[in-house]
Amino acid sequence: MAEDFLPYGRQSIDQEDIEAVTDVLRGDWLTTGPAVSRFEADLAEHTGGTPAVAVTSGTAALHVAYAAAGVGPGDEVVVTPMTFVATAATAVLQGATVVFADVDAATANLAPDAAKAATSSRTKVIAAVDYAGHPAELGELAEVARSADALLLEDAAHSIGGTWCGHAVGALADLTTFSFFPTKNLTTGEGGAVATGSEDLLARARGFRNHGLVRDRSAQRFPDEGGWHQEVHEFGLNYRLPDVLCALGSSQLRRLAAFKERRARIHARYNEGFADLAGVRTPIQHEQADPMWHLYPLRVLEGRRRALFDHLRAIGIGVQVNYIPVYWHPVFADLGYQRGMCPNAEQFYAEELSLPLFPELTDAQVDRVIDEVRGFFGANSSA
Ligand SMILES: *Cc1c(COP(=O)(O)O)cnc(C)c1O
Repeated sequence: MAEDFLPYGRQSIDQEDIEAVTDVLRGDWLTTGPAVSRFEADLAEHTGGTPAVAVTSGTAALHVAYAAAGVGPGDEVVVTPMTFVATAATAVLQGATVVFADVDAATANLAPDAAKAATSSRTKVIAAVDYAGHPAELGELAEVARSADALLLEDAAHSIGGTWCGHAVGALADLTTFSFFPTKNLTTGEGGAVATGSEDLLARARGFRNHGLVRDRSAQRFPDEGGWHQEVHEFGLNYRLPDVLCALGSSQLRRLAAFKERRARIHARYNEGFADLAGVRTPIQHEQADPMWHLYPLRVLEGRRRALFDHLRAIGIGVQVNYIPVYWHPVFADLGYQRGMCPNAEQFYAEELSLPLFPELTDAQVDRVIDEVRGFFGANSSA
């Protein structure tokens, strides 16, 4: 990274984070020791008490969640197209058919009526994303899922620490998944978690994370095999998050509230900076939401998104576009998914530009971004 290049997102690591990691390195456990259960307990303090299972990435969390839900061949999974490809890809890898349902034009979150229209007797899971950190319509989506006899999965890769109708993200869906990638709201380098209030789903998630190994003798088919014995009843993978990274996660969680506050301030500063600018639209916020803002999704009108993207990148401002509609990826196009099926998502994609947003971004850097965007449109600087 060039020194004067401003990324769109980046981690914040302090001395306590470093000490938390080095303490583990000096100890007895590198993986699957006490830091894992501590991190899971710490996570539950941010999910309204919902138990969490730590895994190796947000993608692993989605895979674990679909596996726990029993998603397999013959099942359908209703997915928002306004997300990172993993939300859909992991369902396909489980053998399911993904059905994309369009988003709300304002929030870019899965629209409950579109989700309902996409359900069938085969629907096993409805997967929504809290886009940019703004929670989806979780109450209505839970109702849609219930009436379809399906589970609601909330991909909360953007939104840990947020609330909807006063309830913590993590306590609102049957299964909630998190990502701890460096650009997200807290980081373990690579990492993720699944939260669920269902004991059955929790046990299945834990099993899938660790090869499906059964060590509890009372649950084994051959309990008298010997003291070494463990057996597999269902296939799983190794998605275990090591102690080293769990210790970093626990340390980062202590600053989650501060991260949220700083992100909200930057978000508000952008909103003010663009309030009178024709040519763009600022993100909306529902009154039920107290978002953890992961992204600042500016909407660039008049077909000028690409030109603004190129301009900002050329002057060292690391903007991003989140996201290309998932079914535009060639892997889905090759399966027969056609462009045009979710017009709101496609319109949103055409206009969206994510501006730099991370806790250590300074007010001066935010103002520089605002001034450059205003300058691009020929407006005076905000100062
Ligand atoms: C980042 C992200 C993922 C994947 O998480 P990783 O930790 O990178 O595997 C999934 N869904 C959404 C919405 C994301 O933003």
